[in-house]
Amino acid sequence: MVDAPIIIIGAGQCGQKASETLRQLGYDGDLILIGDEPHAPYQRPPLSKAFLKGEMSLERLMLKGPDYFEQSNIDARLSVWVERIDASDKKVLLQGGEAIAYSKLLLATGTRSRRIPVPGTDLQGVHSMRTIADVEAITSELKPDTRIAIIGGGYIGLEVASALRSFKHDVTVIEGMERVLQRVVCPQVSDYFHRLHSANGVAIHVNAVLEAIEGSGRVERIRLRDGQEIGADMVLMAVGAEPVCELAEEAGLTIENGISTDGTCRTSDPDIYAAGDCSSFYSGRYNRHIRLESVQNAIDQGKHAAGAMLGSEEIYDPVPWFWSDQYDTKLQIAGLSQGYDRTEFEGDEAQNAFAVRYLSGDRLLCVDAVNMPRAHMLARRELASQD
Ligand code: FAD
Repeated sequence: MVDAPIIIIGAGQCGQKASETLRQLGYDGDLILIGDEPHAPYQRPPLSKAFLKGEMSLERLMLKGPDYFEQSNIDARLSVWVERIDASDKKVLLQGGEAIAYSKLLLATGTRSRRIPVPGTDLQGVHSMRTIADVEAITSELKPDTRIAIIGGGYIGLEVASALRSFKHDVTVIEGMERVLQRVVCPQVSDYFHRLHSANGVAIHVNAVLEAIEGSGRVERIRLRDGQEIGADMVLMAVGAEPVCELAEEAGLTIENGISTDGTCRTSDPDIYAAGDCSSFYSGRYNRHIRLESVQNAIDQGKHAAGAMLGSEEIYDPVPWFWSDQYDTKLQIAGLSQGYDRTEFEGDEAQNAFAVRYLSGDRLLCVDAVNMPRAHMLARRELASQD
């Protein structure tokens, strides 16, 4: 009897990499990749950078050429939403009613932009930044001198601010915490990016909480908790992302800040795996469950899950790394800074090239490198060599 197919839900960077790796590892059974977006798998990082600026074509955004899936004998089903998993019968149920049996199932359902419950988010001109469709909606509404309020001074909010300033739009960033990038970097790095944006004409409000988006039909202004009103023609909600876990939750899988997996990407159901933005896993390196939202993790964990579905017992515990491009500045991060008790500085901030090392005692946790690619590569090596 022929085994049921391996099914991957989520045709993003992780699902694509897992499907490619299954074929590279010699899996020649049926393989189905299902994604709800109309596009073949594409890279998301350029959405808030070169693609938003019009410097990268749609074609270059795609991870593979148009014939790839057919040539690799991967049944890629796009614009298809998976409604439910029947874990006891090992079937996925598609919107429209079709049921497909699986031998192994990989959930690579990613994250979605987080929403906050303030009045006015349904007005025209309120956007998020996660998909090609989001960028198309934003660019179709941009006119000269559009006033844009970006809610959230994290990576995506700041990257969009930088991209839109290249068209001289009037950009305001609203950050609820004391400083931009507060969750991930130390005060010195936050200050550097705050100054970089101010020097490029972005108005940044910190400790500023959005109370409402106002307008009749379309955005006209935002109102902050302290009563301040700021005129805006467009609002970008950039307040983080949340893992897409509903399918897993309804199937009874353990959820713990994402779909909980063991070191081999296996969920609490032995035939269901999860990888990429949607999955949390135990990291011996950080001695806790972590969930990463990065290309590094989407690719590496996708590969790892493919191996695990074919029987590998290898443990996934990578050195996380990430990057962000704002203006001519490249920030590269190796490791995770949470839990640091001191920092060390190298380089020259005035020359826009420096690195900050985050330590807990003598143990290196993370390095932020600003325009210092060599420091980033050395940090990845150093972190990988720690036990
Ligand atoms: P996703 O890319 O989210 O893909 C999951 C897919 O599954 C989606 O298409 C989703 O619609 C689909 N799906 C979910 N549920 C279902 C269902 N029930 N049925 C069918 N389909 C479903 N990372 C970096 O390292 N550096 C960067 O500079 C960087 N910049 C970024 C900029 C932006 C604007 C964004 C949005 C992300 C950025 N990232 C960056 C993060 C990185 O792109 C993500 O970590 C990565 O794309 C995650 O891949 P994924 O495949 O796990 O999830």
